[in-house]
Amino acid sequence: MVKERALYEALEVSPDASDSDIKKAYRKMALKYHPDKNPGAGDQFKTISHAYEVLSDTQKRQVYDQYGEAGLSGDMGGGMGGMDPNDLFSQFFGGGMFGGGGGRPKPSGPRRGRDIAHALKVSLEDLYKGKTSKLQVSKKVICGGCDGRGGKEGAVKQCGKCHGRGIEVVIRQMGPMVQQIQQHCRACQGVGEEIDPRHKCKKCDGNKVIQERKQLEVHIDRGMKSGQKVVFQGEADQEPGIVPGDIVIVIEEKEHSRFKRRGDDLFYEAEIDLITALAGGNLHIQHLDDRVLDVAILPGESIKPGEMKMLDGQGMPSHRHQNMGNMFIKFNVRFPEPNWTTEEDIKKLEAILPARKSAPALPKGVNTEEVVLSSVDVHHQKSMNSNGDDAMDEDYEDAHQHGPGVQCAQQ
Ligand SMILES: [Zn+2]
Ligand SMILES: [Zn+2]
Repeated sequence: MVKERALYEALEVSPDASDSDIKKAYRKMALKYHPDKNPGAGDQFKTISHAYEVLSDTQKRQVYDQYGEAGLSGDMGGGMGGMDPNDLFSQFFGGGMFGGGGGRPKPSGPRRGRDIAHALKVSLEDLYKGKTSKLQVSKKVICGGCDGRGGKEGAVKQCGKCHGRGIEVVIRQMGPMVQQIQQHCRACQGVGEEIDPRHKCKKCDGNKVIQERKQLEVHIDRGMKSGQKVVFQGEADQEPGIVPGDIVIVIEEKEHSRFKRRGDDLFYEAEIDLITALAGGNLHIQHLDDRVLDVAILPGESIKPGEMKMLDGQGMPSHRHQNMGNMFIKFNVRFPEPNWTTEEDIKKLEAILPARKSAPALPKGVNTEEVVLSSVDVHHQKSMNSNGDDAMDEDYEDAHQHGPGVQCAQQ
């Protein structure tokens, strides 16, 4: 005695049917119910394909006879989901049965949903130290009230108007022209199904999915960079019959008030007094953790305006490596204001500082004129900078483009 008969009934054979009886029955019914030939047949094709898949396999048939459908779901990994009915169909008939071109695309496993990308702005401090960030995302999940059916079991039917395709063809007459337009089926709003309103799921209003907020814990590793991704597999929108895509968190480094980052290196701009540059002193740099770097400038080190120095290993941690980048410090030297000291002190400076390098003596007979510098106001300075720089760049380019050529011609 067999436990269940549903699969035999689907193929309209008796439980003691032979292998060849089952094969014949499937062939007959598959040709009849294939969706390309019979779009109105609904799930009939899936049902007979599943029945054939089980009953044509001696082992599976034995399990089914003994334990029914429940026995299969354990062994085969999910009853109906065992095999794509179209794959089975093409195996049986050698594919391309109903006219190649117009047929459905070759199925390649279940459809995968879209990935959802979120940008996550992260401070340089957090990228330095590492952090677990909590992120609220809103996503669609299968409705628990109806298990994604949209209503009570049996209340959801294929749309009678579009036969589940969700599309209808409308013929429009515009003067002498007749136009065929494909549009979303108005009966089912393009969903391809209709739900008996009395049995519609109240929780999701027949939508099969509901919007849900979820909190994700994003682990930001030490040393991560802008553009790096943290992937939450299968956490994107759920939808019946698809494999959900991923939620992809893209790290975006926030600008920092003190540091600029290039790769694993940090850049810092420091302003020091002239006396510190010449006679030494120290400088405090608040790092990205709670440390303050006490940077010693040695007496006589003579740091020049715009000079760059380096602190070894004080840069960013290298992502997934043990080493650290470096910190580069660019020094701006703050000079004293005009008339900052007395004539006597200037004399003392002359005695201390390296001797003045005077302008070279001019040959006799050169016409000289003595001139004095005057201050430039801010507005004037700006226009000078923008125009002056351009002019200098052009000169520079000219020299480099034409220079060597001219030289060659002269040789
Ligand atoms: Zn529901
Ligand atoms: Zn419809």
